[in-house]
Amino acid sequence: MNQPADLKLATVPVWINGKPVLPAGRMGNVYNPATGKVTKQVPYCDAATVDAAVKAAAAALPEWRDAPVLRRARVMQKYLQLLQANQKELAQLITAEHGKTLPDAMGSVQRGIEVVEFACGIPHLLKGEYSENVGTAVDTHTVRQPVGVCAGITPFNFPAMVPMWMFPMAIACGNTFILKPSEKVPSAAIRMAELFKEAGLPDGVFNVVHGDKAAVDAILAHPGIAAVSFVGSTPIAKFIYETCAKHGKRVQALGGAKNHAVVLPDADLEFAADALIGAGYGSAGERCMAISAVVAVGAAANPLVALLKKKAQAIKVGPGDQDGMDMGPLVTAEHRDKVASFITQGKKEGATPVLDGSTPPVKDGYFLGATLFDHVKPGMEVYKNEIFGPVLGVLRVNTLDEAIALVNASPFANGTAIFTESGGAARRFQNEVQVGMVGINVPIPVPVAFYSFGGWKSSLFGDLHVHGMEGVKFYTRTKVVTTRWPHQDTPAPGLNMPTLG
Ligand code: NAD
Repeated sequence: MNQPADLKLATVPVWINGKPVLPAGRMGNVYNPATGKVTKQVPYCDAATVDAAVKAAAAALPEWRDAPVLRRARVMQKYLQLLQANQKELAQLITAEHGKTLPDAMGSVQRGIEVVEFACGIPHLLKGEYSENVGTAVDTHTVRQPVGVCAGITPFNFPAMVPMWMFPMAIACGNTFILKPSEKVPSAAIRMAELFKEAGLPDGVFNVVHGDKAAVDAILAHPGIAAVSFVGSTPIAKFIYETCAKHGKRVQALGGAKNHAVVLPDADLEFAADALIGAGYGSAGERCMAISAVVAVGAAANPLVALLKKKAQAIKVGPGDQDGMDMGPLVTAEHRDKVASFITQGKKEGATPVLDGSTPPVKDGYFLGATLFDHVKPGMEVYKNEIFGPVLGVLRVNTLDEAIALVNASPFANGTAIFTESGGAARRFQNEVQVGMVGINVPIPVPVAFYSFGGWKSSLFGDLHVHGMEGVKFYTRTKVVTTRWPHQDTPAPGLNMPTLG
């Protein structure tokens, strides 16, 4: 896209110690994917800027971790109100940098805000356990303490929601935080930081740095950071997990996905097809919970493919800020080309292109139409890879057994769904499928904020999922305290192993 060379563009700052800062050094471009134009610049931070953020977070830690938990909760309550009041502005920033439609961006911000709403209950969530008389005049209790300075590294596809899976929980628990959002969509993070300050958050508790691998490597190696949350693609998630383990950091690293929806012949096929269109093509397929593989069982296949074709043809593709659009552009030209190359590959390896969206339906920007493949086979590249675009593939099997075996053979295990009228079949699927999040007649089973989000196998490296109680556990360490207040008759501890009996 040609642009005048002297165009003066705004620079998205980093946020350190409660202030916007413009560090010197490398810069990158931020694009509007609906036009292909560069709209802003963003600094690519080096180790020195990351270190400045860690110093600010470390300095703010003692006072914040010891702040009364009700005070921390009240800051979260005020933040909740401010996020609700500014939800549309955040959604507009997301649409302008990611490309998804405005109503879809509004929904994603809402799901992030719900984590802040959950974090408002932190006084209850941090309560420990207490047992009286575990021995003679001996009591035991547990406390949940913050882990220290935490960091979050997030992907391009949810510029507000995925960061909000992390930092509100961490900060409510008494930690301080450094966020490194995707360099492709940096603006929402800065707006969220400004609003947090307005809510009364002390300076240094929440910091934002930008950039690519150099900034991430500096975070992973920094001795001042105790815990890292990551969400992104599987190879990087694995690298983050291994590197954090090497540096002795607590880590949760959520990776990529290939989500299957199994459709049984007894399902309401009209309902299932509507659900699959939303789950396959919503956000142009750039969701870690998108359905990209439909497993049609027996007689469901022919009518389901016909319905999917009819409904996919009706999808309106255009700029996400225009009313009435169903699907916006892909995030970058590079990603659009990669998705298009998978469509070519699918045709080459023998999948049937029921609908071919590889010719861009809009001249400018990074658009593709909806693609639907039938007769996809497990060995095909178009099946094995997470395409992360508007490409839905139908695999045909004969039985529920075969469907479950197919889902369980995938190395990815983020989300899955079954469409059926049979309670027995749904219960078997829920019991036997080896996937972290399961939907029964629900195509995108993203758990509500008070449950935890996370996949299995190559979709999550680590032990604890995000938000809900697992989020509280990740951002706290449990300490067990055993207490005795000796009185006259209390026997003194001897040399033998104390049994307290
Ligand atoms: P990505 O892995 O390319 O980038 C994620 C983050 O890692 C970004 O902040 C990026 O700057 C950084 N990064 C990129 N390359 C790096 C490198 N070599 N070393 C260190 N850091 C690096 O992912 P993306 O393209 O931004 O996002 C899409 C991916 O995220 C998809 O695979 C999608 O499934 C996944 N995702 C997963 C979930 C989940 O909950 N499991 C949620 C959203 C997205």
